[in-house]
Amino acid sequence: MVDLKGQYEKIKSEIDSSIINVIESTAYINGPEVHGFQKDLENYLDVKNVIPCANGTDALQIGMMGLGLEQGDEVITVDFTFAATVEVIALLKLTPVLIDVEKDTFNMDLDALKKAITPKTKAIVPVHLFGQCANMEEILKIAKEHDLYVIEDTAQAIGADYTFSDGTVKKAGTMGHVGTTSFFPSKNLGCYGDGGAIFTNDDDLAHTIRGMVNHGMYRRYYHDVVGVNSRLDSIQAAILRIKLPLLDEYCEARRHAARFYNNAFENINSIITPTSQKCGSICDTCNCHVFHQYTLKISNGRRDELHQHLLDNNIPNAIYYPVPLHSQKAYEDERYNEVDFAVTNELIGTVLSLPMHTEFDEEQLAFITKTILDFLK
Ligand SMILES: *Cc1c(COP(=O)(O)O)cnc(C)c1O
Repeated sequence: MVDLKGQYEKIKSEIDSSIINVIESTAYINGPEVHGFQKDLENYLDVKNVIPCANGTDALQIGMMGLGLEQGDEVITVDFTFAATVEVIALLKLTPVLIDVEKDTFNMDLDALKKAITPKTKAIVPVHLFGQCANMEEILKIAKEHDLYVIEDTAQAIGADYTFSDGTVKKAGTMGHVGTTSFFPSKNLGCYGDGGAIFTNDDDLAHTIRGMVNHGMYRRYYHDVVGVNSRLDSIQAAILRIKLPLLDEYCEARRHAARFYNNAFENINSIITPTSQKCGSICDTCNCHVFHQYTLKISNGRRDELHQHLLDNNIPNAIYYPVPLHSQKAYEDERYNEVDFAVTNELIGTVLSLPMHTEFDEEQLAFITKTILDFLK
């Protein structure tokens, strides 16, 4: 699905020497590279505070802890996402409220959101799924009306732009009270191990969170709150400092592959190609979709056959996600009603994600699309 080796080879000498520098410096934890990366990412995102941490799941958990959410508070998120989002809500003994998504963008459905709000609701967690932002303009409006926090799960959309109707452009993860991301190797900005970060424009909240990631310490050996140990290590930060300046180029390479796929599948009835919320299809100029995944919908009932056919032809492909969260053993709840998950229940039977990365040559893309077209003919 990804070509991490090909990507590494292009930047090998810089990466290798940066890793050796960290080893020789012996500043393995909270070294200058971590602080440097924090500043670099604050500049790139145009956000006041970045707090690096150990992974994207921790980032979500610590973001929620920082906001002071308490047992029983309801937190609304989507049914169609990776489980990390709902997992941390449950771990913190908050009450997850799963809602349906839009069938075109795979992102949070606004009617479902409005319907799910109760007096106990405290926060909304939109997930910018597959690389494009949820409808943040409306989500922020709804949140403001009901005095709710917004935590953006940006694990799949770092680098994506979101354009408001007045023309203002903001980076994914910088619009809500808190944004979180993951530097898992296969994410759009991946390190060579685990990593994550929390973003916020609220300086007081940033201060709270900085202590929380470090055992609740604001002064050495004085523990004011119950915290966790969640750090980005210096080697990962050094790697990320080299990759961050390449992120826009990486996003463009992904979009290029997405356009190739879209063109190939344009007139095929049984294939529904991804839509971008802002530009309809995929525009050539803006950065509103960064294609963490390129996800088709196969509408003729042959998704599973196609999935197997591609595997038989050595073409990686995957079903993200095969089971909706509300049907997972860990998260089932009698509060949920199947009719409220009509879109998710349909998507799990039709979605198919194709290989997506930064290192394609046209021949590979042509082979993938031809294999699919021949099969569906
Ligand atoms: C990857 C991912 C996470 C978790 O990130 P980790 O770094 O693997 O903990 C959370 N949410 C979404 C939507 C993800 O895709």
